[in-house]
Amino acid sequence: MTSLAIAANGLRKSYGDKVVLDGVDLAVPEGTIFSLLGPNGAGKTTAVKILSTLVTADGGQARIAGHDLAAQARAVRAAIGVTGQFSAVDNLITGEENMLLMADLHHLPRSEGRRVAAELLERFDLVEAARKPASTYSGGMRRRLDIAMTLVGGPRVIFLDEPTTGLDPRSRHTMWQIIRELVTGGTTVFLTTQYLEEADELADRIAVLHDGRIAAEGSAEELKRLVPGGHVRLRFTDPAAYRRAAAALGEATGDDASLTLRIASDGSQRELRSILDWLDSAGIEAEELTVHTPDLDDVFFALTGGAPAADQPKEAVR
Ligand code: ADP
Repeated sequence: MTSLAIAANGLRKSYGDKVVLDGVDLAVPEGTIFSLLGPNGAGKTTAVKILSTLVTADGGQARIAGHDLAAQARAVRAAIGVTGQFSAVDNLITGEENMLLMADLHHLPRSEGRRVAAELLERFDLVEAARKPASTYSGGMRRRLDIAMTLVGGPRVIFLDEPTTGLDPRSRHTMWQIIRELVTGGTTVFLTTQYLEEADELADRIAVLHDGRIAAEGSAEELKRLVPGGHVRLRFTDPAAYRRAAAALGEATGDDASLTLRIASDGSQRELRSILDWLDSAGIEAEELTVHTPDLDDVFFALTGGAPAADQPKEAVR
């Protein structure tokens, strides 16, 4: 059994009479990417601050990398790295100096510190910029430096608080690549985001934070199956084949103009096989078969009481 890098139980936090977290449970296996998803103000940063010992919870327990958050806060801090909205980058000094400062903070011997800094600057494509003040860096470079600085201490668990908010599309994709590479060495990534696409792209498991609680949790695929709207679409070029299929597939909705049939389906292998088997045995050939799964936007709106998801199924052709 894989052990948990983060295990939290009943986390609560209020500011004044505003309840931000109202009993949050989390279980994040080691070496995975976990995404806490929620709109602005949902409490994502509060959760990160609690789990990284920056803020004390009003209730609940958590273990991070095997250490109790309350009783072993020092050990927790030694095992984690945090980056995000509260960037640690000092703009007045160069990227390299920022890295060496981090190495000092982690009490690395001088030569070891230089080696680690050089290696990370190289890995994050910051060699050319290393001797320039961080104030001259673009948003993407600053985020890369921030993550590089976090890695100096060799953390086992990394908290990334909205790592791509405000980045241009190219920098966002670079950041996604970096995040994927972080877990290859067994590191665990706890990522907060307000972008469904980002969670879908990166996370092994996703938890949707709504009204201070986890409204749903699972892989992107599992979450998508929670909402209606998934279907298989069969398109025909031969009107006779279309009519025969429409007559035989009772529950299908047909569109005579485009010779297309829509069959409600979760898109699972089992359901696809039964549709294909049926077509084969009836000797009917469809021009095209596409699977349409609801995307995370549909899930999010369905869970948080927004627009009905089933009205506008998104196209996800596989
Ligand atoms: P998110 O990261 O999801 O945008 P936050 O955790 O930053 O959400 O904030 C959740 C809620 O808690 C917000 O309504 C915010 O105003 C409130 N909040 C956060 N920190 C404090 C604080 N130190 N004092 C008072 N209210 C706070």
